[in-house]
This record gives sequence, C-alpha cells and structure tokens, in this order.
Amino acid sequence: MNYQQIIRNVYSDILQKENKGKVPDYIPEIACIDESKFGVNFTDLDLNTFGCGDFEEKFSIQSISKVFALSFVYEKLGEKLWERVDVEPSGNAFNSLIQLEADHGIPRNPFINAGALVICDILLEISENPKEELLHFIRDLSEDHQIFFNEKVASSEMENSFRNAAMCNFMKSFGNIKNQPDAVIELYCHLCSIEMTCKQLSNSFLYLANGGKKPSSNKQFLSYSKAKRINAILLTCGFYDESGEFSFLVGLPGKSGVGGGIVAILPQKYCIAVWSPRLNEKGNSYRGMKFLEEFTTQTGESIF
Ligand code: GLN
Repeated sequence: MNYQQIIRNVYSDILQKENKGKVPDYIPEIACIDESKFGVNFTDLDLNTFGCGDFEEKFSIQSISKVFALSFVYEKLGEKLWERVDVEPSGNAFNSLIQLEADHGIPRNPFINAGALVICDILLEISENPKEELLHFIRDLSEDHQIFFNEKVASSEMENSFRNAAMCNFMKSFGNIKNQPDAVIELYCHLCSIEMTCKQLSNSFLYLANGGKKPSSNKQFLSYSKAKRINAILLTCGFYDESGEFSFLVGLPGKSGVGGGIVAILPQKYCIAVWSPRLNEKGNSYRGMKFLEEFTTQTGESIF
C-alpha cells in the first residue's frame, strides 16, 4: 500500500475543494487562527512517517488531550474509574448539560466535557502536581519534550468557562466532583490548551495502535485490554454526536478537538493526524473529516 501517494493525492484533492465551516468563537485565543491551515501526518508501527502541508505547525489540540488524560488516570485507577464516568455515546453536543440530571451526575463518557471534568477531578485527587505529571506523561508518550500548555489559551478559556463551570458545579451537587470546581476547571483548561503538531500527534498516539505499547521503545503505557477499551470508546464517543457518522464514513477510532485537529487509528497499522481549523456544526474539523473519509476509501482499509 503506497500510503504516501494516497495521502498526497487526497490532500491536494481536498485543498482544491471549498473549505466550509467556522472556527469556534467562544475561546477568543483560538478564534483568531488562520483558517486556511491544513496539515496531515501519518506514522505506522514501523515508524515510517511523512506529512503534507502544515504538519509541523503547532495548534491547540483541545479535546484530543482528553485521550491522554483518560489513559493516565485509567492506568492508575483501573476499572474503579467507571464508577464515576460511563462508556456510552451521549448523542449530544460535547458541552451539553441535559443528561447529567437524569444520569445523577455521572457523565456518559470521558470524551464529553463533563466526563473530562471528572477525569480532571480524579487527577487532582491522585496526583500532587497534576499539570506537571500530565505534561510529563504526554511528553513521554510523544518522546518529545517540546510540548507545552499555552497559558494564553488556558486563561482565555477560563474567562469564558461558564458552561464548564455549570457542569462542574452540577456534578458536585451529586457528589461526583470532590475538589473545588475552580481548581478542576483550571486543570481542565490547561489540559485543553496543550499545543502539538500533526507529526507529534501521529507519533504519540501509536500506543493505541499497538496494544498500549510504544513501538519505538517497547514501553508499555497501558495494558492491551485498557488500550482496546480506549479504542472502543474512541469509536463510539470520539466525535460527540457525530461519532456514528465518523464511524460510518471513516471506519476508524479517533478523536477530534475544537482546535481543528483529528487523530485516527488503525490498530496494528498506523496513526494519522489531520488539522484544519474550520469546524462543522458538530464541532469537528470539516476538512479533517473529508480527508479521512477519502483516505480510508482509497486505502480500502478500516477496522471493518
Ligand atoms: N476546551 C473546549 C471546551 O471545553 C474543548 C471542547 C472540544 O475540543 N470539543 O469547550
């Protein structure tokens, strides 16, 4: 399979087509991003890697970082974690509050905002320096120390975190948030503000394509069973209320973020990251979805 050729062709094809969607306006620091940015990077388990376009430019990974936070907490806490967050698709927007009441403050899954807030609350409980430990974990996974929080993006989001604050307070009323909501939101906004390139992302997610183990170092970050389960949640919940559509069109587990990034995984084979800031109405990158749909169509490979 000549992945490189296929990626080049699909990239130039998508580039020529109209770019639709909008950048999110509720986080002022990412609202001003250049909307024409477009990058793709592919890395396989033999560490062959190549990219197209803006693949070496850093962007705000936003909700993609929820996968790192979940991996970190799941490895430490084990199956007890699922007492506080469920593994069902929500069928609702990532920042929706409506199910929390009926579900007694237990978020549907760890990839909607409510779920990630609970993960951050657990992080505050189990770690002395959660920000540093999390960054360290992500740098370890990426084998790259040049990964940082963007403090401006974090503060910009903290100043506009009214919905996240509402969720956090509401879950606290059910006893599913143990720390002060402000501390949970501060950690959550830092988590979302992490910046990475497509190249760094496609390399760092290889552990999920390889049963929890980084192929470069053979370091086991997660057990096979936990990696399998995270992939399952990515497939069913990685794109919020568009998870069914992504699975239908692309056929790979993956995760999006409102910074315009998408990471997708073909277990036992590769990891691919795409970045294009304009989002469709569900909050997923318009070109990212189009690119991956065409990519798996042309390769004829998916998990199905
Ligand atoms: N920081 C964003 C928020 O909390 C993350 C959402 C996303 O990427 N889908 O709204």
